Amino acid sequence: MNDLASRLQAIRDRISAAAQRCGRDPASVQLLAVSKTFPAEAIREALDAGQLLFGENKVQEILAKAPQLPSNLQWHLIGHLQSNKVRKVLPHVQAIHSVDSLDLARDIDRIAGELGLKAKVYLEVNLGDESSKHGFNAEGLRAQLEALHALTRLEIQGLMCIPPFDDDPEKSRPYFVQLRTLRDELEKTGGRPLPLLSMGMSHDFEIAIEEGATMVRVGSAIFGERTYKPAA
Ligand SMILES: *Cc1c(COP(=O)(O)O)cnc(C)c1O
Repeated sequence: MNDLASRLQAIRDRISAAAQRCGRDPASVQLLAVSKTFPAEAIREALDAGQLLFGENKVQEILAKAPQLPSNLQWHLIGHLQSNKVRKVLPHVQAIHSVDSLDLARDIDRIAGELGLKAKVYLEVNLGDESSKHGFNAEGLRAQLEALHALTRLEIQGLMCIPPFDDDPEKSRPYFVQLRTLRDELEKTGGRPLPLLSMGMSHDFEIAIEEGATMVRVGSAIFGERTYKPAA
């Protein structure tokens, strides 16, 4: 096995172990390999090792990499989406994890209708109320849930969060608990299932699984450290 394939396998093993430790079926946790800043060749290596789900945080990167790769691979957008890029990206992505406002949700709904698509989305919640981060705050989401559910071209899968970063992964746990609790509440008040929780990254995905994550978004632990390039 090459390095990337063995790192990928190690993450899969840790996902299974974490799920089993807390009495969950390992198959209930999906791995999203976050390939942002890495070239198509790295993605192909992961694909050859059996990984089909890839996360990118920029529309341009998906548009640049997709034509170089087999079409069975599935892209998830995990970064902030500007309304003027919705039309370009929708046909390429299997899910959008970063729906962070009612306005954006309405734009996606309208454009999905024009394109004859349905859009699978997660609602991003800014639990730390960090001004540097996008997302609904819990109060805003409660107030806007009905309007979100009224958008017929959106299939709202669940919630997503990015807790404030801390070297100690245990510091993420209260945020994961909050996201799950908010989900449970919104299922009751909204009368619709929100089955999926997108939470957990390289340093805290095992804790996210213990708290109910159904998809963990792991980048650097698979692909290596990122060297940031200036924005394209
Ligand atoms: C980059 C990124 C990740 C992956 O982060 P790692 O720490 O490299 O695992 C997960 N989620 C989002 C939204 C990201 O932007």
